[in-house]
Amino acid sequence: MIQSSRAASERAGAIFILSAPSGAGKTTLINRLLKVFPDISLSVSYTTRARRPGEVHGRDYYYVGKKMFVAMRARGGFAEWASVHGSLYGTPRRPLEQSIQRGRDILLDIDVQGARKIKQLYPHSVAIFLLPPSWQELRRRLALRGTDRRESIRRRLENARREIRAIMRYDYFLVNREIRDALKCMKSVIIAERLRVSRYKALRGQRSAVSKIYRLKAES
Ligand code: 5GP
Repeated sequence: MIQSSRAASERAGAIFILSAPSGAGKTTLINRLLKVFPDISLSVSYTTRARRPGEVHGRDYYYVGKKMFVAMRARGGFAEWASVHGSLYGTPRRPLEQSIQRGRDILLDIDVQGARKIKQLYPHSVAIFLLPPSWQELRRRLALRGTDRRESIRRRLENARREIRAIMRYDYFLVNREIRDALKCMKSVIIAERLRVSRYKALRGQRSAVSKIYRLKAES
């Protein structure tokens, strides 16, 4: 378990974006990651898609009707929103802003359209793309899932092709051959990003930052 240091309160919360084609193993990776970093919160999106068996309202998504989604969007309630696989998805703005202000890191599991918008709005956010080990393996995993109909699988594969093309706009990519290795890579990215000087408020615009640096390091 890795807790961020007390010095974290001295910095703005970081936004980590994780995108991957469905079937790449993103959910497993996120679950493992949150065990390693219990102080990272996961942004819970709103969606108009139907709830799948085993999913929980408020944990996996907030499942809402289209009318409610559109009303929330009109009120500026989403930091970003997108239409994915024929349904609407949106990242609620308030929890995101609160995390940043409170110095808490937040993880966003969103698609490439969302990642692009969040990067524009929050340039310090860190976008990571998770790739499946191969195209054949992605196909196999989607077919095995069984929760999606054939048409939906076809749509997801088409989307995957388009999404993988957007990888150039990401900061990091990992290939999910072994979940343990992917997790190790994610941990490295998070730890390195947390150490970025530019994230520490106290170090910005200080004439004499030396004592502050050592105080922060002593606390980490
Ligand atoms: P699923 O329906 O399989 O849970 O998710 C489908 C896709 O929608 C995934 O790529 C997921 O990352 C993306 N997604 C989930 N929530 C959001 C969101 O709030 N905004 C955007 N842009 N994409 C999202």
